[in-house]
Amino acid sequence: MDGRDIGAALVGNLHFGVMADLFFRSALLPTGWAASVRITVGSDGAFADVEPDSEPASGSDEHGIAVPGMTNVHSHAFQRAMAGLTEVRGPEGDTFWTWRSRMYDFVARLTPEDVEAIATQLYADLLRHGFTSVVEFHYLRNPPGGGRYDDPTLMGQRLLSASRAAGIGMTLLPAVYRASGFGGALPEPAQERFVADVSEFLNDVAAFNRATKDDPDRCAGLALHSLRAVSPDDLDETLRAYRREVPEGPIHIHVAEQIREVEECLAWSGARPVEWLLANAPVDSTWCLIHATHMNSAEVEAFAGSGAVAGLCPTTEANLGDGLFELPSYLAAKGRLAVGTDSHVGLSPAGELRLLEYGQRLTLRARNLSAGSPGVSTGRRLIDLALEGGSQASGRPGGQIAVGCRADLVVLDDTLPCLTGRQGDEVLDAWIFSGDDTPVGDVMVGGRWVVRECRHVDQDGIADRYRQVMTALLQ
Ligand SMILES: [Zn+2]
Repeated sequence: MDGRDIGAALVGNLHFGVMADLFFRSALLPTGWAASVRITVGSDGAFADVEPDSEPASGSDEHGIAVPGMTNVHSHAFQRAMAGLTEVRGPEGDTFWTWRSRMYDFVARLTPEDVEAIATQLYADLLRHGFTSVVEFHYLRNPPGGGRYDDPTLMGQRLLSASRAAGIGMTLLPAVYRASGFGGALPEPAQERFVADVSEFLNDVAAFNRATKDDPDRCAGLALHSLRAVSPDDLDETLRAYRREVPEGPIHIHVAEQIREVEECLAWSGARPVEWLLANAPVDSTWCLIHATHMNSAEVEAFAGSGAVAGLCPTTEANLGDGLFELPSYLAAKGRLAVGTDSHVGLSPAGELRLLEYGQRLTLRARNLSAGSPGVSTGRRLIDLALEGGSQASGRPGGQIAVGCRADLVVLDDTLPCLTGRQGDEVLDAWIFSGDDTPVGDVMVGGRWVVRECRHVDQDGIADRYRQVMTALLQ
């Protein structure tokens, strides 16, 4: 079965879920926790009615605990296929940069069909853990060795197909990638799969906007790979043209992930990466700065004040030896954040939020550092921040169980031991801080059930295709 067949089978399978009348023992609403909540989903896939203190409709199922679906704000889907394959020590010792060389070697062989199968499996796995939408930072654009596909947007179209087949919401961000170092250094041969002219990237943006125009669960935006890969002139030209076409669209950029990157930026410009970006680009609430790991206190204050979102990927940042984000001072300055799984060595929102908090506990030797104020649950604060920041950074308003929002929700199974006896915010703390078993039972995206009783609705078909692709790739 090819990707299109998987998608067609799934759409048929899911269609019965639209126009749902649901009842939950409790639900996290914009006003807080509510009990006995009846939720109606319209045929447009949005919440049509949300009524606390209700009775279930006759014949409707009673579910456990409903929470809004989470947005994964940073994904390179193809990297999922490398998870666990870069953990053997190399001859010179290993760093982010040696990992990147291995990633380039792996990328050299991937076809569009491979990427679609890998992404579909990944998105099904993200759904099972409670992510209902993903922001795909898409830079694997060209055929192996360079050149162009007949349709230069082919790779991105495959990612959109994968998201439809799995049933996950998507923001697709074609990533401008032009150089191998600060100031516009020529790309390396291994980067030929990523590079194109600015005009080609702008055509990609336009094509993906057209492809998602009538799809309420998907949209497109723009990524700038990094200040290493985009020179100041290219950045200006891209932003001016993009803003003419899409005044409010999302813009994402990798920034200040590695100390070497900070040193090279200082040598090139006299400024640190976040400092340079904030001084030279119109960073505002439509922007999401991925990683932003290495900041001084002035950068933390300026970034938080910009209204942009920090896109944090703690498991990947740990795996790559990046460092710890300046979380306490950033939160004190009212900075906004969201989480992503980036290289996908982790797959769950709970895992990312747990490591985000634990990294700070380990280094500061204190507890409940993200909670902010006495009496506040750490899990609740982190989930509130990630829901709000994720919605903002995705360019797709949502993150709430409220009338008019997309019907994206996660059902936590309160019959499981890890949630036994937990009430209100204790449920969220138990989800994040009680271990690796996920209490995610069912997941709905745009009014369609895509996960039922812990299984993706097309789990076997998606896994068969993935297994075929990986067996061929790794032989
Ligand atoms: Zn990334």
